[in-house]
Amino acid sequence: MKSSKSSQGGLLQQWERDHVWHPFTQMAESTAEPPLIIESADGCWLVDCEGNRYLDGVSSMWCNVHGHRHPTLDAAVTEQLGKVAHSTLLGASNVPAIRLARKLVELAAPLSADRPDGRGLTRVFYSDDGATAVEVALKMAFQYWRQREDPRPEKTKFVSLGGAYHGDTLGDVSLGGVERFHRLFKPLLFPTYRAPSHYCYRCPLGLERSTCQIDCLAELVRILEAHHREIAAVVVEPLVQGAAGMITAPEGYLRGVRDATRRSDVLLIADEVAVGFGRTGTMFACEQEKVCPDFLCLAKGLSGGYLPIAATLTTEDVYGAFLGSYAEQKAFSHGHTYTGNPLGAAVALASLKVFEEERTLEQLPKKLALFKQKLAQMAVLRHVGHTRSRGLMAGIELVADKQTKAPYGVDQRMGARVCRAARDHGVLLRPLGDLIVLMPPLSIPPDLLEQLCDVARRAIVEVTESNAHAV
Ligand SMILES: *Cc1c(COP(=O)(O)O)cnc(C)c1O
Repeated sequence: MKSSKSSQGGLLQQWERDHVWHPFTQMAESTAEPPLIIESADGCWLVDCEGNRYLDGVSSMWCNVHGHRHPTLDAAVTEQLGKVAHSTLLGASNVPAIRLARKLVELAAPLSADRPDGRGLTRVFYSDDGATAVEVALKMAFQYWRQREDPRPEKTKFVSLGGAYHGDTLGDVSLGGVERFHRLFKPLLFPTYRAPSHYCYRCPLGLERSTCQIDCLAELVRILEAHHREIAAVVVEPLVQGAAGMITAPEGYLRGVRDATRRSDVLLIADEVAVGFGRTGTMFACEQEKVCPDFLCLAKGLSGGYLPIAATLTTEDVYGAFLGSYAEQKAFSHGHTYTGNPLGAAVALASLKVFEEERTLEQLPKKLALFKQKLAQMAVLRHVGHTRSRGLMAGIELVADKQTKAPYGVDQRMGARVCRAARDHGVLLRPLGDLIVLMPPLSIPPDLLEQLCDVARRAIVEVTESNAHAV
């Protein structure tokens, strides 16, 4: 499939090697083979400089929703470009940012049934990405307790889970529970309370899901009962801990966290950066356990995977604590240059319109049945320890020994090798350690979903069951 473009491709490859530093990437090793350079896309396909097509198996880092170059989303960007690309929310507002705030509040309205006052998430604070959406919630929660009518300034601590991933700003890293990402920065971080992850396949408490009483939740409740006086908020990834390894929560876990935080007078921050916008089958994951958090953090899928825009939704109660005269200096002391960016807001509105026009959520159950069936076929493979999924996000955990659950050595780079093999078969995947992530755009048609799963399966078999690949 080489074309006349390859000389230009050669130059790009050289510049890429000379200048581009990639996130979470060992650059010394990444130069071993030619980099994959994406030039265009359509629907669920990404196309590289040489014209090779790849199925986008992880939604371009979990954010694409309706496919690439969707006509409605493309048109929304172009139309907004004809008006204004950017203006600021400092001292002014803009049309798409207002409309989007209204739309998000409407979408979150069903959650309000869970609040004693029946008033839900009505206030929208914009930022740029998932990390800032959570950082904003942390700072708002902290400032809230100092400024509310009955102040509780001693409430300064946060609770997060083992394996938690909330982004890469230092506040978010303080919450983080992924050792290999977060250990190094410890001296820069604030201390947090850590509740065990609901990782049933490798239970941190050594229990079995068939017989346990969701004891990991009981641990979280114990932390709240003992320390609620100094705890500002609990931060969770509702239903699925993403970067930890697509770790699905037992039914009732999220509900239990909400009930416990209410009993202990602690705020709940729901980080739906990964799970929001239909990923788990409902618009928001919180809907599935009828939970209304005090903060709802949204990013990745908000713009359909087009532009960096994020939002932190909160309640009238939280918002009210920031009101006062100018001299009282109660305003929220935080903001970003591109906050409420009109292009991002316009494409987010278009994405939400497509949810309605294409009945994206209504189309899911049929695809999910197929997805479950395909995952079950992978679960029986010799080196697949566990498969788990919620909606259209799944993890396939590779193990050296299925009986003992013994993991592969880090140096074997099993996850990376499986993804490399999948790429040779025209599917782009991205591992989390030895976990293979499948997270295609919600719009993926059933035949492509089947192809994605079949290639993943074939790649796993090729790499884990062939001696030629053994290290
Ligand atoms: C990706 C992610 C983030 C960080 O979002 P960025 O846009 O990469 O900053 C935060 N929380 C969760 C749950 C995520 O999956």
